[in-house]
Amino acid sequence: MAAVRSGDTAPELVVRSMLHKAGFRFRLHRNDLPGKPDILLPKHRTAILVHGCFWHQHPGCKYADRPTTHEEYWHRKLNRNIERDKKTRRELEAEGWKVIVVWECETRNSELLRERLLKTLRESVKDEVTNDKTR
Ligand SMILES: [Zn+2]
Repeated sequence: MAAVRSGDTAPELVVRSMLHKAGFRFRLHRNDLPGKPDILLPKHRTAILVHGCFWHQHPGCKYADRPTTHEEYWHRKLNRNIERDKKTRRELEAEGWKVIVVWECETRNSELLRERLLKTLRESVKDEVTNDKTR
């Protein structure tokens, strides 16, 4: 039985356990950084933001449909979230962090997500480490 709704932190836990199994070291919720990123990989200078499709309005996602009641309220609220996300991203990037957004719906297909994350993270290491002896 697949419940459509999952707890607030479930998608984040999926990402964390995935990274953990793949051997990545990370830190959580650094308060001193813009937007308090959910997951940080200091070695990769990468911040991972795990976003709920509805609250952060995943473009084109079926889970991001806006409510048709109290429309104005929701538009304002959700647009504010989108603006805040953009700002967070800009600020993190300005401080030299690479930003990866993981959408909640992506955590439902963990194999695909794993591939994407590991690929992106390995590339970010290659960019910075020139004397990579493991290859
Ligand atoms: Zn989505």
